[in-house]
Amino acid sequence: MNTILDWSAYADAGLGDAYADIPRHGGNFAKAVASCINSRRCEATDAKAVMCPSYRASLEPALSTGGRVRLLKAALNAELPEAALAAPDLARAMDLCVGCKGCQRECENNVDMALIKTEYLAQRAAQHGHGLRARLFAGLPRWLHRHRGLTRRLIAARNRHGWLARLGQRLFGIAAGVPLPEPTPTPFHAPSTTTPLAPAEAGRPEIVLLVDCFGRHFEPEIPRAMTAVLAAAGYRVLVAEPAADDAEPRRPLCCGRTYLAQGMVEQAAAEARRLLAALLPHARAGRWIIGAEPSCLLGLRDEYRALGLGDAAREVADKALLLEEFLARESMAKRLDLPLGAPAAAGRVLVHGHCHQKAVGGMKPLRKVLKLVPGLDFALLDAGCCGMAGTFGLEREHAELSSRMAALELLPQLAAQPDARVIANGFSCRAQIRAHSAQQPRHLAQLLADALGTPAGRSATDG
Ligand code: SF4
Ligand code: SF4
Repeated sequence: MNTILDWSAYADAGLGDAYADIPRHGGNFAKAVASCINSRRCEATDAKAVMCPSYRASLEPALSTGGRVRLLKAALNAELPEAALAAPDLARAMDLCVGCKGCQRECENNVDMALIKTEYLAQRAAQHGHGLRARLFAGLPRWLHRHRGLTRRLIAARNRHGWLARLGQRLFGIAAGVPLPEPTPTPFHAPSTTTPLAPAEAGRPEIVLLVDCFGRHFEPEIPRAMTAVLAAAGYRVLVAEPAADDAEPRRPLCCGRTYLAQGMVEQAAAEARRLLAALLPHARAGRWIIGAEPSCLLGLRDEYRALGLGDAAREVADKALLLEEFLARESMAKRLDLPLGAPAAAGRVLVHGHCHQKAVGGMKPLRKVLKLVPGLDFALLDAGCCGMAGTFGLEREHAELSSRMAALELLPQLAAQPDARVIANGFSCRAQIRAHSAQQPRHLAQLLADALGTPAGRSATDG
């Protein structure tokens, strides 16, 4: 069996350690699957954990990380593994993995089921192709670039007219009862890379903003807020733009996340190569690459390693940080001079972390940055996965399970403090919270931008 992703990182896995039972087929991919030591920790229902939302919402062992491993091992031991991957119980178990990466961090042996699912989807598609809905969701950034007005009007009409939503459910399998995020009429536009968005200040490092497709097309106020915050701290802000020799210089950069989520590895790698060509000169010039959306920015540091992208991916990954990671780092180094005041709006702030952010330990820097806002009353929620997980919660056959995942922890915790404001850095988390509550969650960058220059302003230089 030929694998589609690069699993060479697992080449030595299973040699003389606790890994056992490496399946006959699949090479290093099989070793990645076999890294499960069958402890069944993924069948815990600990409210503080992310792993494993599909098990916690169903209590079916087959829908835990280890349950998926057991089914995968059986398929990879079969005489014809490619055919065995289509077994209905395995297909269902993989279909209901939301790719949250909870297991990548919380399982004793860091089983990376989200990446294993990408290989699984790609293997299935190699035999049967991709469905219409998968192609539609994966290609959304391109659609929004080419046909923004039409896409926007269609989504808006679908959200307002039940019959259109039902038609969309019949034709494309998009859940009629779930509102779709609506693109903005005024997407984020950056000036040319030769024009810094913010003036240079002596001794300050330069920053490159990685504007993700969700921020660009749906919530441009987020990259604008990031720009305001970084500029207020005196950084020279540039926006990542296509490389000079890019074949589509007018098409915004994209990390490839929407393709990867659907198992379209080739298309994701093409987007990744284009992005790396744009970012590599910045990385080599020593600039930090800062992003707002965890699933996009962290993909550069994680999934890109499995796309066979070579040294460029490593160089760029070393310079890629989330906004909160960058600010916390600068603050620790006593370099941050951010004029933050007391929050403009009074009251408690509840913070819901994106699962991919939690998988890299990203909640600590988030806490550190929130502490920079004088007098901010905030709490980090232990609420697991929101259940939206990219497009999972928008899909007809998944919408009910997605709602159940949200109802496990997140929604009750939000309902217990209805007057609190909500910060959620993930686009899909915000969509899920809006769909299931009256809350209007925002990104950390917006909270910080609101606190710039407020009356009780002070310098946030600290350690
Ligand atoms: S996937 Fe991880 S947590 Fe689950 S049984 Fe295997 S080793 Fe244990
Ligand atoms: S990625 Fe998330 S849903 Fe999938 S097995 Fe791991 S913890 Fe479970």
